[in-house]
Amino acid sequence: MLNQETIQAVQQAALIEEVVGDFVTLKKRGQNLWACCPFHHERTPSFSVSPSKGFYKCFGCDAAGDSIAFIKAIEGISFIEAVKYLATKYSIPIQETEEGHKDIAAQHERDSLYILMKLANNYYIQNLWEHSEGQRIGHAYLKERGITDDFIKQFELGYSLDSWQGFHEYALKQGYTDGLLEKAGLIVHNQEKLYDRFRGRVIFPIHNLSGKVIAFAARILKPADNQPKYVNSPETPIYHKSDVLYGIYQAKQKIKQVDKCFLVEGYTDVISLHMAGIENVVASSGTALTDSQIQLVSRFTKHITVLFDGDTAGIKAALRGVDKILEKGLHVKVILLPPGEDPDSYSKKLDSLAFQTYLQEHEQDFITFKAKLLMEGIGDDPTQKAEAIKEILQSIALIPDAVNRTLFLQQCSRLLDINEGVLLGEHNKILVRKEKEHHRPHKLVHNPVNELQLTAKRGELIPLNWAATIEAYEQESIRLLLNYGSIILEDGNPLSTYLLQELADVPFQHPVYKHILSTYEELALQEQVIDINFFVQHTDERIQKTAIDLTASPYEVSDKWQEKYQINISKEEDNLYRNAYKNILRLKLRLIHQLIEENNKLLKNTVHEPEEEDKLLQVYATLKQSETAIAQQLGMVIIG
Ligand SMILES: [Zn+2]
Repeated sequence: MLNQETIQAVQQAALIEEVVGDFVTLKKRGQNLWACCPFHHERTPSFSVSPSKGFYKCFGCDAAGDSIAFIKAIEGISFIEAVKYLATKYSIPIQETEEGHKDIAAQHERDSLYILMKLANNYYIQNLWEHSEGQRIGHAYLKERGITDDFIKQFELGYSLDSWQGFHEYALKQGYTDGLLEKAGLIVHNQEKLYDRFRGRVIFPIHNLSGKVIAFAARILKPADNQPKYVNSPETPIYHKSDVLYGIYQAKQKIKQVDKCFLVEGYTDVISLHMAGIENVVASSGTALTDSQIQLVSRFTKHITVLFDGDTAGIKAALRGVDKILEKGLHVKVILLPPGEDPDSYSKKLDSLAFQTYLQEHEQDFITFKAKLLMEGIGDDPTQKAEAIKEILQSIALIPDAVNRTLFLQQCSRLLDINEGVLLGEHNKILVRKEKEHHRPHKLVHNPVNELQLTAKRGELIPLNWAATIEAYEQESIRLLLNYGSIILEDGNPLSTYLLQELADVPFQHPVYKHILSTYEELALQEQVIDINFFVQHTDERIQKTAIDLTASPYEVSDKWQEKYQINISKEEDNLYRNAYKNILRLKLRLIHQLIEENNKLLKNTVHEPEEEDKLLQVYATLKQSETAIAQQLGMVIIG
């Protein structure tokens, strides 16, 4: 177990904007930072990060939490792992209580797999640098491929000895079991025999976003007939091939910085581009690009540039993959390398400045590129020309943004020398057909603000029963307390003092609101400064989630904007006391209604002793009096 001090130190140090910023590109709007949500697919940002409140909240899919919760969710790891991850990031010493030093097998399986992969990576690295076979064969090979020692180290490249049992025996000595080794894909089980998966190969470790080794790609050194060029890790609990891009960990900062990502095919292409001074590059590792890989890039940038090898045969096949990127709403450019060259070979042929210049000068947008490519060599054959036009229009129709589609149509009209109206007509036909094929209902534009208002209205205007209405007013009380508790009212006391006094005799029904109220009261009694972070960082997820939901603001009007357009937007702070008063009266009124109803049931349903009946009638009268008194006060507040 981690001790409490470590957790607290992490909570204080891990600024939400820094932690989230490692995974998505945040843009400032109002007081908050916004991005497209990393937890669900969307094209307009509804994922907000509040640096002042220390939490993230998505108005699209409702994901929310503090820094630790974010790491937990995005990495799919345990609370403890998330704390450790952040402790490492912020160089906070990790203190564990006694029972923490249990053996590896007792730990969570994923945690064990991460540790095992790290061990394997270190083993392969050590082979490369220190073992005579590794030096002679592995290191020599990388040198020959032109990869310098600095980059061998940066990408943690290694070498697996040409042996059936080398790693297997080593790992057993370290206390790992065959079961875990097989689960990690490091050893293979074949006809009662267990042996190393990677033998006599150069090892490229594959990292996840946070830099953990999750898989290996092992390349053969000499071409052999019966051997594949690459042997890769199989799918494991920590490695899903289709979700991963090679080099994303090393590239993510640069991608954010320059707002662009180069996409290449192979592991050595990525390393070569780094050596040529281009760090914002990832590889799909030979497979067709998947939706989740595109989404991974789109967390950091909306601009992808695909590098194509110089042989035209491969390009036409690759066009489909690029269409997928368009479909996800990203901007795609392409660069075609000279015939016979790939990124690895060409970046080594030129010096880094010349290579970078080549890339700059040959970058063109994808639609133009595709149009030129398809029209090549067609000449005046009308059938072929029509076929090509149709294919280009198919790509344009994939672009979700209508303005961009129009721009591309105009461009193609010039490029292909075809009347724009004709193109537009054909394009619209494709769109209509697509709609029909997918039976897509008309898609409403997602608007988080409207949704929130609707929810609020649902709670207030259409009460299904007393409990639901009471819950809504309880919620409103807690919302006011969390957001404005420390604001000083005209009488010189904070709003919290007023709210706590008024709510002291109100029995809250909702367990979470009840818990927050009593905790707040306790803290106030101890005269502690009450910080929203206390609830936002709460280890009970329901409390954390509620605190975030009640304090997150879905939209903001910046002060500048107000000045510019001379609009005065009344702030909630201006009517705080009145709103709090109104809400408490409503809550109390509903509670009394509930009590009256219960009392009536008792009166009706059972036969009572005269004494008991008197009591019930008395209660009824008292309740009725209170009801009238509160209703009157409420009327005055509402009218006055
Ligand atoms: Zn979301």
